[in-house]
Amino acid sequence: MKQDVIELDGAIGGGQVLRSALSLSMVTGRPLSIKNIRARRSRPGLLRQHLTAVLAAAQVCGATVQGAELGSQVLSFIPGPIRGGDFSFAIGTAGSCTLVLQTLLPALLLAPEVSRVRVCGGTHNPLAPPADFLELAWLPQLRRMGAKVELQLLRHGFVPAGGGEVEVLVQPSRLVPLHLLERGALLTQRATALIAGIAPHVAERELQQVGKRLGMTQDSMQRMDLDQGRGPGNVLLLEFVCEHVTEVFSAFGQSGRRAEAVADQAINQARDWLGGEAAVAEHLADQLLMPMALAGGGSFTTPRMTEHLHSNIAVIERFLPVTIECREEGPDRLKVECRPLA
Ligand code: ATP
Repeated sequence: MKQDVIELDGAIGGGQVLRSALSLSMVTGRPLSIKNIRARRSRPGLLRQHLTAVLAAAQVCGATVQGAELGSQVLSFIPGPIRGGDFSFAIGTAGSCTLVLQTLLPALLLAPEVSRVRVCGGTHNPLAPPADFLELAWLPQLRRMGAKVELQLLRHGFVPAGGGEVEVLVQPSRLVPLHLLERGALLTQRATALIAGIAPHVAERELQQVGKRLGMTQDSMQRMDLDQGRGPGNVLLLEFVCEHVTEVFSAFGQSGRRAEAVADQAINQARDWLGGEAAVAEHLADQLLMPMALAGGGSFTTPRMTEHLHSNIAVIERFLPVTIECREEGPDRLKVECRPLA
């Protein structure tokens, strides 16, 4: 049956509008036409990470695609049937592997067979979920919804060198609604300062700052020295395991930026969330919405509305028969609820 094309204006957000639309086009079988892709970004249009997501999505569902070129601000994507199997994609730069994987996952859960997907590029990028975030924070919630997915970080890849690799194994699964309104008691916390080809004192100073401002003890903090050849790269990861959710906050070292300032960036995000009552922080919020909508329902609390959450709601409501309601429940507590359309 011929399906109506979903027309989107990509200027309502960034790359996430495109990636969410690709995922939804694949799972619903509805053709997508999108213009003004990343129009308000300093380098508009498709960058390598976005182009890889488009080409990978096209391969998984045999789509007919127009506009899949670097810098393109328009794309037409006509999906075919989803297939599983073995796939391997290389971004070709340090663009984020995790964002490419997240684009494919909804479709692969619906594939008729098991899939194994490898993506090569950046695994720890500023402004994208680090592989650890997927493994520790995002995937456990997806598993609670019924997704059978395993992730393996095969090799770290930092900006600008890239060369990292992530693999996921996905079994066909049916998603069920999840309600994540409270985080529960804090059970454990951990800080890891990763360095590759960077002086060890950088990591030590980041951890000292974590000890000073978050009160973490030595036994919950670790320095992880990666092979020099993987660098240069430095990321500080803060992990908080609560009864119902694990959150991960991160910040990246940059030349000319003091180690304490890098640490403060992750610490401030963590303190903002720890000091409030919401179950999930801003990044997990916008990334949980898609699986909840695909499950046909679910809810969570998060401190506040963000551009990513807002644009993701708009894209999801165009494709799926769901309604997403957001209600302030107090200072720094926004309840987001996804329900099937009556
Ligand atoms: P653009 O350059 O157009 O902004 P992009 O393709 O790089 O786009 P975004 O559209 O900004 O990406 O989407 C980035 C995604 O990465 C969002 O889902 C956001 O929540 C997530 N993200 C960003 N930083 C982090 C982080 N530190 N931890 C976890 N997730 C993150």
